[in-house]
Amino acid sequence: MVRFENVTKRFGDNQVCEDLTFTVAPGEFVTLIGPSGSGKTTILRLLMTLERVTSGLIEVGGEPLSHMPRGGRTVPADEKHLRRIRRRIGMVFQQFNLFPNMDVLRNITEAPVHVLGRDKEAAEAHAMELLGMVGLAEKAREHPSRLSGGQQQRVAIARALAMRPDVLLLDEVTSALDPELVAGVLGLLREIASTTDITFLCVTHEMGFAREVSDRVMMFDAGRVVEEGPPESLFGEPGHERTRSFLRAVL
Ligand code: ATP
Repeated sequence: MVRFENVTKRFGDNQVCEDLTFTVAPGEFVTLIGPSGSGKTTILRLLMTLERVTSGLIEVGGEPLSHMPRGGRTVPADEKHLRRIRRRIGMVFQQFNLFPNMDVLRNITEAPVHVLGRDKEAAEAHAMELLGMVGLAEKAREHPSRLSGGQQQRVAIARALAMRPDVLLLDEVTSALDPELVAGVLGLLREIASTTDITFLCVTHEMGFAREVSDRVMMFDAGRVVEEGPPESLFGEPGHERTRSFLRAVL
């Protein structure tokens, strides 16, 4: 479960999120849509603790990112606490960010073995299972540079899943792909969403995908949620003029 309570984020004078409050339930698939610069990526970065809130509270699985209990009191979170929460969250980016000097298998096992301390053989067996699921078992010993963009993104998805995350953040995961590779990656994500209990927060410009896969869509503008709801109502009968003008421009 993910909870934002009265979250405000400023970069200098630039107020990127304003008094943002929302909850994402366990297993829910929530998509964030809205114009460029409306703060969607910043929300994912706040969750990954790549940015700190200016004010407000963010919780993952009931644990605040900013504070932790100690000796019956609550104290500011230390790096160890943040690392522990971060491990529960996976992220897949627009640019696949695979390690170029490692083969596909090692890309996937690196964090489970070196961050979580899992047994190497067990991590490799799990990685092969995941590679089978994303349709790339035969590429285990290739380096990323020898894979297509779509294949690299599938490896990045397998790498995120190898950490067995509770929450998966997807940031424009198909934007860097050739158009004919987009459907395959979206189909894979659709399958993962429907067969796991992972909680998803997804930023995308793929409105067809958002409509099909989301339990809920949140429309952002200037750091605020102007409208949210199930995809059939948000896309079918948007209630807010800003949502209507945005959808007219992108559909
Ligand atoms: P897009 O759809 O183009 O990716 P977005 O909705 O994800 O846009 P963000 O990337 O969250 O928007 O950016 C929101 C605002 O925050 C922008 O005005 C951006 O310039 C600003 N911003 C983001 N990161 C930083 C940073 N590290 N320092 C200063 N300003 C930043």
